[in-house]
Amino acid sequence: MKIYNTLTRRKDEFVPLEPGKVKMYVCGPTVYNYIHIGNARPMIVFDTVRRYFEYKGYEVNYVSNFTDVDDKIIKKAIEEGVDADTISKRYIAECKKDMEGMNVKPATTHPLATEEICGMLEMIQTLIDKGYAYRAEDGTVYFRVKAFKEYGKLSHKNLDDLQSGFREIKVTGEEGKEDSADFVLWKPKKEGEPFWESPWCNGRPGWHIECSVMSRKYLGDQIDIHAGGEDLIFPHHENEIAQSEAANGKTFANYWMHNAFLNIDNRKMSKSLGNFFTVREISEKYDLQVLRFFMLSAHYRSPLNFSAELMEASKNGLERILNCVSRLGDFLKTAADGEMSEAEQAAKAELDSLVAKFEAAMDDDFNTADAISAIFEMVKLANSTADENSTKGYLEQVKAQIEKLCDVMGIITEKKEEILEEEIEKMIAARQQARKDKNFALADEIRGQLLEKGIILEDTREGVKWKRA
Ligand code: AMP
Ligand code: ZN
Repeated sequence: MKIYNTLTRRKDEFVPLEPGKVKMYVCGPTVYNYIHIGNARPMIVFDTVRRYFEYKGYEVNYVSNFTDVDDKIIKKAIEEGVDADTISKRYIAECKKDMEGMNVKPATTHPLATEEICGMLEMIQTLIDKGYAYRAEDGTVYFRVKAFKEYGKLSHKNLDDLQSGFREIKVTGEEGKEDSADFVLWKPKKEGEPFWESPWCNGRPGWHIECSVMSRKYLGDQIDIHAGGEDLIFPHHENEIAQSEAANGKTFANYWMHNAFLNIDNRKMSKSLGNFFTVREISEKYDLQVLRFFMLSAHYRSPLNFSAELMEASKNGLERILNCVSRLGDFLKTAADGEMSEAEQAAKAELDSLVAKFEAAMDDDFNTADAISAIFEMVKLANSTADENSTKGYLEQVKAQIEKLCDVMGIITEKKEEILEEEIEKMIAARQQARKDKNFALADEIRGQLLEKGIILEDTREGVKWKRA
């Protein structure tokens, strides 16, 4: 298996630290709002990486954090007049709902920054003791970048350039830095903010330290894969390497994987630019499986532009696969036992070669786009070779293979139970009655129930019309 490694800038053969096991850490979201579909890209991509390792028989220990203390969370809490904890707990719960909708498996561990402060204090102290960090007069603790000779090795930046770059930017409150490139490990509290006691000052951690600490606690000093979006390469991941390697004296992660951006009109989708759709918004229009399928239709290192056309194409493509599996299921209900015919045996051999094609694509740095093409070829083969006269053995094998590969992609092949027209009409009539009775709450509830089942109502002059989402 080959993985493109940001550290070496080439595809490296994957060799696990421990045979049969993969330890991976994926930087998770800062929880102050619903996640947008840009944030969903790393979730879907690295969940698929995990699923493929599992398909190959590896045991995967997958850790992904929630950053639940941060300026943006505090700002939102102040706006709403609640504490920061209320905000982060709410959006962690909402994020988990979105993940479930996208069929992203829960991580082995989802640590929270606020629950790992002790470990952070410990690592910061180690860094100070080893001369890699220092306390400024105001209580801020900085990492001494100059002391870590390999600084810049991930982002391929040179420390001299970085220093001159940083010198241009003067940040108030950071006057106590020895060097412009140094970064914060611990900072003093500000009025009204959550804080923890520490030997240096009452305050809170800088952003980078949490990942170094959680990764070590749940996976050990050394891990196989560390991943996230490409905007995290610098400074976040560069700083994580400096912290972890300086504190532990060992190589931190062997493979660094970064997904490219999800764009809209060729610009990065982001909260700050305001050009985003939340996963929740998309779920009102599409089954989130369509979003997942759309994300995987491109290689994870290629930028992907979000558009309604591409989503429609993904919806149609996905339907083609699901219809095929459903047809195979129908044929199976009445299929006869018996030896596979010669034609079936030949088709089965072709099927095996498509499985090999799928695996070759995934082995080549998780090329999901080509892997999906192999699934489509299998669907085409199934549609042209399987019918009500096929043997049970053949149908079972084709169906199981397609389902197995779809599962690697995180695509659920079972069709959702469809609500019958008769039932829809009955519910619409009940809603009309509720409206006549001026019981608008009930009317809204019925509309909501139908929406949950994928039925959209439209009130027109000619009466109520409905359509399937
Ligand atoms: P954040 O909450 O901003 O720290 O982001 C959480 C994860 O989403 C990180 O791995 C980011 O790199 C990733 N991310 C944010 N925006 C995008 C985007 N438009 N496309 C792809 N990944 C993104
Ligand atoms: Zn991180």
